[in-house]
Amino acid sequence: MKKIIVIPGDGIGKEITDSAVAVLKKVDAKFKIGLEFEYRDAGGAAYDKFGEPLPAETLDACKKADAVLFGAVGGPKWDNIEVSKRPEKALFGIRKGLGLYGNLRPVKIYAPLIDGSPLKPNLVTGVDLLIVRELVGGIYFGERCESEIVDGVERAWDTEIYSVPEIERIVKLAFESAQKRRKKVTSVDKANVLASSRLWRRVVNEIAKNYPDVELNHLYVDNCAMQLAVNPAQFDVIVTSNMFGDILSDEAAVISGSIGLLPSASIGELTSFYEPIHGSAPDIAGKNIANPMGTIASAAMLLRYSLNEEKAAQAIEAAIDKTLEDGYRTPDLFKEGCKKISTTEATEIICERI
Ligand code: NAD
Repeated sequence: MKKIIVIPGDGIGKEITDSAVAVLKKVDAKFKIGLEFEYRDAGGAAYDKFGEPLPAETLDACKKADAVLFGAVGGPKWDNIEVSKRPEKALFGIRKGLGLYGNLRPVKIYAPLIDGSPLKPNLVTGVDLLIVRELVGGIYFGERCESEIVDGVERAWDTEIYSVPEIERIVKLAFESAQKRRKKVTSVDKANVLASSRLWRRVVNEIAKNYPDVELNHLYVDNCAMQLAVNPAQFDVIVTSNMFGDILSDEAAVISGSIGLLPSASIGELTSFYEPIHGSAPDIAGKNIANPMGTIASAAMLLRYSLNEEKAAQAIEAAIDKTLEDGYRTPDLFKEGCKKISTTEATEIICERI
C-alpha cells in the first residue's frame, strides 16, 4: 500500500482536499495503485486542538509516508496569536522537517480559459511550462545583518551562497522533469553580475552532459521575466535559484488567469509534498464554491513524482481538461454561457471523466 498523509488545514482546505481524495480514490479503483489515506492536523486547526501549528506527530507521520497532500493554512482567526504559533509556521516546519529542496510549479493554459489570462490570447496559446525552484538555499537562508553602522551610515545586508551539491541536486531534478516533458531546460541566473550565478551556470553545463536528450539554454533573470510576458510558450522547464524562482513563479502563475487552478509539488529528501498554490481563502470557506482543480492537479503531480504513476496522473489532468472543455465552471471562473458548479459538483464531474 502507498500511504498518503492528508492535511486539510484551514479555510477551504477541507473542501478541496476532500475533492482531491475523492478523485484519487477514483483513479486508484481504475489503476489499482493501492492508496491508503491518513489524516493529520496542521495550521490553525492544529493550534486550536494542540496549541501548536505543527504537532510533532504530524511531522513524524509525514516523514514515514509515501507522499503528503496539503490544503492550505491560515485565516483571520489566528492573525493575532504569537508569531511562533501562527498557522503559516506549519509550512516552514514541514519544509525543513522533510528537507523539501525543490519546488515544482507547472503553469498551463487551459484552452477554454484563454480569455481569463491578462496576456493576449495569441501569446498564451500553448503555454505549458514548469518552474523548478531551489527551495532551501540561496539568499533567503544566507547570513544577514538587519542593521549596522559603518562610517556613521546605517546599512543592512544579505548573502547568497550556493554550494555545488545544492545546485547539482536541483538541476538534476529539472533535467529529470524535462525528460518526462518536452525535453527542454532553461536555466535562469544573473551570471553577468553574481559569482553565485556563475557557479550555478558552470554546474548546470556539467550536469547537462548527462542528459544529451535534453536541450539546454541559459537566460539572465531580467530577460526571463520579460520573455514570460512576451513569449511564455517558448518555455518547457525553467530551473532557477530560490529568490529568482519565487519571483518568476508568481509572474508565471498570473499568466494562467486563475489562482484556483494551479498545483505545486515540493520534492523532499524524505517525503514530497503537494499543495495548490493558493491560500486558505477564508472569504469563501464552507460555502462549497471553492475551485478544487488546483488541489486535484496537485494530486496528479503526487502520482507522477512520488508514485511514478504517470498514466493515472494523466487521467486526472485529462479529466480536468474535459470538465473545462464541457463548459463547467466553479464561480471563480464562471462566465455567461457556462454551467456554474459547486466544489462537490466539480469533484463528481471530474470523477465521472476518469
Ligand atoms: P488566498 O489564495 O487564500 O486567496 C486570494 C483570493 O483568491 C481570495 O479572494 C480567495 O477567495 C481566492 N481563491 C483562492 N483559492 C481559491 C480557490 N481554490 N477557488 C476560488 N477562489 C480562490 O490568499 P490570501 O487571501 O492572501 O490568504 C488567505 C490566508 O491563506 C492567509 O491566512 C494566508 O496567510 C494564507 N495562505 C496560505 C498559504 C498556504 O497554506 N500555502 C498560501 C498563501 C496564503
